[in-house]
Amino acid sequence: MSTLQIRDLHVAVEDKEILKGVDLTVNAGETHAIMGPNGSGKSTLAYAIAGHPKYTITGGSVLLDGEDLLEMSVDERARAGLFLAMQYPVEVPGVSVSNFLRTAVTAVRGEAPKLREFTKELKTGMDSLAIDTSFAQRNLNEGFSGGEKKRHEILQLELLKPKIAVLDETDSGLDVDALRVVSEGINRFRSGETGVLLITHYTRILRYVKPDFVHVFAGGRIVESGGHELSERLENEGYERFAKVASA
Ligand code: ADP
Ligand code: MG
Ligand code: MG
Repeated sequence: MSTLQIRDLHVAVEDKEILKGVDLTVNAGETHAIMGPNGSGKSTLAYAIAGHPKYTITGGSVLLDGEDLLEMSVDERARAGLFLAMQYPVEVPGVSVSNFLRTAVTAVRGEAPKLREFTKELKTGMDSLAIDTSFAQRNLNEGFSGGEKKRHEILQLELLKPKIAVLDETDSGLDVDALRVVSEGINRFRSGETGVLLITHYTRILRYVKPDFVHVFAGGRIVESGGHELSERLENEGYERFAKVASA
């Protein structure tokens, strides 16, 4: 069973400390939601785990199955079984979705899947996400709607089968249909071998994906943890009572 272990993580952006000691353990099969007000450092946590060069680790550790993720290149992190939704956010003219996914699968599995088998795998994944077949030939991220980006994200999950998936739901512009498809995709993974870290400002998605654990993020650290009932409480009360913690 896989485990992501974050211990006393401190992260700075341009010399400003943003994360101030994050402790979190995510096991395979568990879904953890990280929720918190804007600017509390949720995305910083995701980028730091991803290895984004702008985010400097100033203390603490991140281990995946005991291996030091922070010592790895971005590619090595992916091969080790980490999936980050915002890893490839850029538009890439001339690279189709299909090409991109086959390259990603090759990188993670260590060998290229046979084209025919990959095509079949891709079709199965797209069908289950209600993605039109023409999507595979489109240029990566070019003109993708919010819903298409999210479906593509879940499609990557289906194909890459990571040990730990970090999903930063920065996009609040999902319509209800897209939200449902994405939620169903996440829910399929929860029953399997993948641990999910779902980062979100909005409680909306948590009506569809009931996390096992909910953590409130404020001022660059986790200030409260609980079960699903905590997200319901946040939906009713908002983040106001954490405002003091955040500005401390
Ligand atoms: P959240 O995702 O919770 O809204 P962020 O992690 O995006 O919070 O931001 C936390 C703080 O770090 C904010 O004050 C933000 O201005 C700062 N920050 C994050 N990323 C950068 C960056 N790339 N450059 C400068 N400041 C940043
Ligand atoms: Mg933000
Ligand atoms: Mg964010």
